[in-house]
Amino acid sequence: MKYDKDLYIDSGIYGLDEDIRDYKEKVVKCRKPHKCVSCEREIKQGEQALCESGFTDDGAVSAYTCLECVEEWLEESGQVETDED
Ligand SMILES: [Zn+2]
Repeated sequence: MKYDKDLYIDSGIYGLDEDIRDYKEKVVKCRKPHKCVSCEREIKQGEQALCESGFTDDGAVSAYTCLECVEEWLEESGQVETDED
């Protein structure tokens, strides 16, 4: 993890559809493998990822985004300083 944990949580990256109730975002250590919703690579067990969760009319939903994708987004959206010498 390159940046402050709060930056990942407040990054504004959005892997889930709108109309989610009880929307929550947190950084978790995966207890089982997940697929990153952004780059579709496998997030391995024990790796950290941004987990979004909530409820739709159909039940609970969740989405995992790998930290690299969040970092890329933070850099692209200018929320962090990047080292460019
Ligand atoms: Zn990814």
